Amino acid sequence: MAINRRNFLFLIAATSGAAACGTFPSTAGPVKSGSETKQSESNQTFKLPPLPYDYKALEPHIDAATMQFHHDKHHAAYVKNLNDAVNKYPQLKSQTAEQLIQNLSSLPEDIRTTVRNNGGGHINHSMFWEIMGPNGGGEPKGAIAAAIIQTFGSFDTFKQQFNEAGTKRFGSGWAWLVRTKDGKLQVTSTANQDSPLMEGMYPIMGNDVWEHAYYLKYQNKRADYLTAWWNVVNWNQVNQRFEKAQA
Ligand code: MN
Repeated sequence: MAINRRNFLFLIAATSGAAACGTFPSTAGPVKSGSETKQSESNQTFKLPPLPYDYKALEPHIDAATMQFHHDKHHAAYVKNLNDAVNKYPQLKSQTAEQLIQNLSSLPEDIRTTVRNNGGGHINHSMFWEIMGPNGGGEPKGAIAAAIIQTFGSFDTFKQQFNEAGTKRFGSGWAWLVRTKDGKLQVTSTANQDSPLMEGMYPIMGNDVWEHAYYLKYQNKRADYLTAWWNVVNWNQVNQRFEKAQA
């Protein structure tokens, strides 16, 4: 894959620090700082959840620079854009992001795509940070381990299917383990920031296969990133989501 303008700017911005933030892609503009801005952000409906560990906690599998840009810029931009959309229609502020993306057709047309992309982005990334962690990886434990073996035959077969869903997703998107409407586990993928919730499925775990999730360290080698990612999976959190999906 050639380094296009977007990747190039991403690389420049990520490697030359704050001074280069002005060249960062417009979808992930710099986060404002300062007490005045913080106060107004605290009044917003949707908030960026703090990363539950250090930027460098997932090294060497995911590097600190990627984590910092991914959380502080990309996820922050989804939150900001989602807030901007609901600020136009204050009656929507009582809904959760999940409710909004599950009822896209009921939303005003002018914000529908924005809510789809940025509501999905906010939900997907909030899950993503929580199902990863330092000292992660290894074999799954508990109820999810049993369900995976029952559905896929073995953990290795499941991993293979999940990685394949990630490598075959053309362009940007996510690989998922979901609970279907009829209560089965299934590996699937979505485009862009679409969530399995839009299809009535519950996302138990997902891996972000957008270039911004891996490009600084892995460049075009998405398959290498997908393989390494299993070393940072927090199976306790995945188990908690699995239990929540059953409820
Ligand atoms: Mn992402």
